Amino acid sequence: MKSLSLGGICSDFSCASCCKDTQMILSLKDIEHIKNVGFKEEEFCFKDEDGYHKLKNVDDVCFFLKNNKCTIYDHRPRGCKFYPIVFDIDRNKPALDEDCPLIDKISDKIVKSFEKDLLKFVRVIKKEKTSNI
Ligand code: SF4
Repeated sequence: MKSLSLGGICSDFSCASCCKDTQMILSLKDIEHIKNVGFKEEEFCFKDEDGYHKLKNVDDVCFFLKNNKCTIYDHRPRGCKFYPIVFDIDRNKPALDEDCPLIDKISDKIVKSFEKDLLKFVRVIKKEKTSNI
């Protein structure tokens, strides 16, 4: 899967806004992948009231954020790879998250190029939620 390589830009700006008070949804594949790196599911993941698996926050930042850096960057969840492209529920389509301070660096063309992969990911998440309830 391709990822939106903003890593360079994010670190240039020392920005980890998206990793603070994260609400990032995890697929079962994300969870397995992170477990294979050596973490226990209960350390980094919880299920919210709607039945979605999400990253845990510790002291208001993602469990994996240390010194403003992602400690599992190469293994980060798919949602983190898409960010700041997110699925806008109200508009039912991919969009840039307005909370990201760097969205002016990302063109509509780039957003469009991720649309197919992101919609596929959203379908997986919805299916997993349904089958988990
Ligand atoms: S997994 Fe990494 S990139 Fe994703 S929110 Fe946590 S620290 Fe940020």
